[in-house]
This record gives sequence, C-alpha cells and structure tokens, in this order.
Amino acid sequence: MVAIDIYEAEQKIIDVLVNQSVSEIKPVLDRAQVIRYPLIEDVLGLPGPEVLNILTQLYELGSLQRRLYFRVAVCPKCGVIDPLLISISCPNCNSVNVFKKVFVRHVKCGYEGLEDSFSVGSCPKCNVKYTRSKDFIKKIVFECSDCGKQFKCPGITYTCRSCFTSSSIGSVSFMDVYSYSISRLNLLKVALISRIKDLFTSLGYRVETPGYVEGISGLKHRFDIYASKQNNSVRMLISIYVFDKPIDERAIMNSFAVSFDIYPLQSIIIAIPGISESARQFSQVLKTNIIEASNIEQALEKFKNFINQNIKQII
Ligand SMILES: [Zn+2]
Ligand SMILES: [Zn+2]
Ligand SMILES: [Zn+2]
Repeated sequence: MVAIDIYEAEQKIIDVLVNQSVSEIKPVLDRAQVIRYPLIEDVLGLPGPEVLNILTQLYELGSLQRRLYFRVAVCPKCGVIDPLLISISCPNCNSVNVFKKVFVRHVKCGYEGLEDSFSVGSCPKCNVKYTRSKDFIKKIVFECSDCGKQFKCPGITYTCRSCFTSSSIGSVSFMDVYSYSISRLNLLKVALISRIKDLFTSLGYRVETPGYVEGISGLKHRFDIYASKQNNSVRMLISIYVFDKPIDERAIMNSFAVSFDIYPLQSIIIAIPGISESARQFSQVLKTNIIEASNIEQALEKFKNFINQNIKQII
C-alpha cells in the first residue's frame, strides 16, 4: 500500500523537476533486476515498486507524460525481469546440445569435407592452396548431439537465470519501461501557480502552494493555492485546472461539495481553456466563482480584476 497521498507525491515530484531543472525521470535496472527510479525513491522516501505505482498513477492523471525508455524481456514462469540466457537449440527435439559444423567444398575438384580437414592449408584431395576465394564454398550446418538431426537454422531458446525455465521467443513476455517528465499542461499550471503566488506575496499575503484546509467534517481539502492575511481576515482558496479541453461539471460539483465543508470560506476555480457548457450551467446554479481563460496571461489578468473587484477594500 502506498502510504502517501498521490497529490502530495505529485507536488514533491514536480518540485524536483521544476526547481532542480530535472528534465526527465529515468529508470534503472538494478542488480536484483528490479526497475527503479532512484531519484524519486529519494524524494518520496518510498521503495521502488511504490514509486513505480505512483509514477503510473500520475501519468494516468495527466500530470506526467512518459516515453518508452527501454523494453525488457520477462520470464513467463517466475516474472523476473531481463534474466534470459540465449542459447541455440534443436528444432526437432529442443535439446540445447547443439553444435555448429563448417563444411568446405572445393569447386574445381569437387571435394567436400569439414573445414578441419583443410587445416594443413590445402585441399586434402588435390593439394590446391585453401584460400578465401569463390573456389572454396563454405556451408554451415548445425547438428544435434541428442537426436543426431542436422539443420541449417537452429531454434533459439531463452533460459531464465533465476528459475531455469526454457522458453521460445513466442512465450517470452516483454515489459515496457518508461521515463517520465512533467506534462506540458502541468508545466503551464505550475507557471500560473507561481505567478499568482508572486502576486499574493507582493500584496502581503502568506501563501501556501498547495494549501490544506480542514473542513467541518474533519476532512482535509487540498487547494492549489491558499493565500491568507496574517490575522486570517482574508483567506483565498484557489483550484487551477489546465487541460487541453474545457473542464467538465465534475470539478464544479466537487468544489460545491467542498464549499459546504469549509463554509464560510469560498474557493475560486481558474479554468484554462475554460469550462464546458454543462459545467457552466452547474456553475450558474451553484454560484461557483470561476475564472475562465484561454492562456496564462489572460488568466492572470482576469484574476487581478477579480481581486480588485472583490477584496480591494480589505487588501
Ligand atoms: Zn524465471
Ligand atoms: Zn581440391
Ligand atoms: Zn535434437
């Protein structure tokens, strides 16, 4: 079980990516053949499997993007990653007791025999010097010591170093391993949070990003920005959504549900690139504070206007 809130993990990971200029979270395959992300293990203080689980969740939430970094073979029996020894095998009886034979034919005299018989440096039949020319044609044949069959192409067998199960290529599984980076949309969100934080700080607010407010129910609610004056005379809670399409009514309904729990505090939603038609209908009924904008600059401008209209007298 992951003993960390996914949003808390997200924040820590994004802080590292943005503040330490890490462009990509790269995987490593450790000595025990386990895929790990050491940087994030350090940041979150969690073991490898939990970190992988969190990175996958953040990818599914759209917070991180990923790209295929490498693809590893997995033993179909024991599941160990990349444990496979590759060996040739007999296509007739599957034995790995297969050896290679090299035959040479001397075109001019017609002699054909194992390459070893040319070891003296000339054709054993006519004594012409053995050279790497088209007068001598090589033929490679594999032979099985167990069943005696000869064949041109041996089978390939993959044997697990861990459980020693042998598999054909068809039954070996493969696993995609990804590197992760912050998604373009999330980067915009981080930039907007930073700009709003600067704005509040310049107005003398104390700012937490993210900030948590405990509701009447005892639940802790998370907001992207929680700005307050020292004496708590003004408190502003802001949730920011940056998507590639208008946000739907779920965000509005969620905000509405939370508003009961944190009453009399109110929250503001900033939505880039805006909200859907059904979300707008909900927001009108539920009287949600929403700032819609097509980009960061517009969002910031509209937000400043909102502050001026609503709380100028108490700044
Ligand atoms: Zn195995
Ligand atoms: Zn010859
Ligand atoms: Zn055989």
